Amino acid sequence: MYKFDPKVIRVGISGCLTGQQVRFDGGHKRSDFCTEQLARFVEFVPLCPEMAIGLGTPRPSIRLINQDEQIIAQTAKGDDVTSALRDYGRTMAPQFDGLSGYILCAKSPSCGMERVRVYHESGKGNAKEGIGIYAAELMRAQPLLPLEEDGRLNDPVLRENFVTRVFALHDWQCLRHEGITAARLIAFHSRYKYLLMAHHRDSYQRLGNLLSDLSVDVEQTANAYIEGMMQALSNNVSRKNHTNVLQHLQGYFKRELSPRQRQELARTIHQYREGILPLLAPITLLRHYLEEHPNDYLHQQVYLNPHPEALRLRYGI
Ligand code: SF4
Repeated sequence: MYKFDPKVIRVGISGCLTGQQVRFDGGHKRSDFCTEQLARFVEFVPLCPEMAIGLGTPRPSIRLINQDEQIIAQTAKGDDVTSALRDYGRTMAPQFDGLSGYILCAKSPSCGMERVRVYHESGKGNAKEGIGIYAAELMRAQPLLPLEEDGRLNDPVLRENFVTRVFALHDWQCLRHEGITAARLIAFHSRYKYLLMAHHRDSYQRLGNLLSDLSVDVEQTANAYIEGMMQALSNNVSRKNHTNVLQHLQGYFKRELSPRQRQELARTIHQYREGILPLLAPITLLRHYLEEHPNDYLHQQVYLNPHPEALRLRYGI
């Protein structure tokens, strides 16, 4: 059981992505981003389903095959390993309540999250339409868990989105660990206001409405809340939506800033909107003004600091 620990952010990962030599050919698929950057802030839980079911390394490669409309995983020797991989996934996935994210190896018939090659049983033709057998069980048992594949993490927008979700889920797990009360739930929502608005404005309003009557059943509301929140955060944020939120935040400084400072902030937001500056530029300026003109409500906004700055995730978007 991978227990939750408020002091550690645990993230599951396909073992080969951490450099473990567990691939069918005895190699690995080490991810630099995971091992050199993200590993400074999270504790990885590396697992290799194919090794775990007793296939050694090196081993015959595995393929997904569409057999009478059933997807099976078969080794190059003809052994069917579908049940073994599925059972392993079914045993492990319920133990992942303490994880805050999972990074899967792309294209793998065991770990692939999407677009895994599925071969026709005749041997002729294939389509990139499968999900790895282990990954499918993981998704079924842990629908809230942020999942991403190594290849997709090279995209700055997808990378930032994934890490945002990991930190947000961990924040939520801390709240659960502490104990959910109506007041804590409302305070949590208040801190996530601008992050939610950026990702999905309607969800921000809907989640707010959900919290409007907490006399019913706090536990039930909390479950619906986190489901809606993780769903909302899975939407990537467009420049337009970020601009909207930045302009909202700009409004808080209307009276505090000099005309020159106001102009500078408006220009920086505009240049971000036009793609001339990265998101980090207006955010840095806003944080600077916030230091000069403290505002408790803004200070607590996760939108301004959703993940460690050292990851430099807002330089590329
Ligand atoms: S993709 Fe999954 S099953 Fe394949 S080597 Fe990596 S961890 Fe093991």
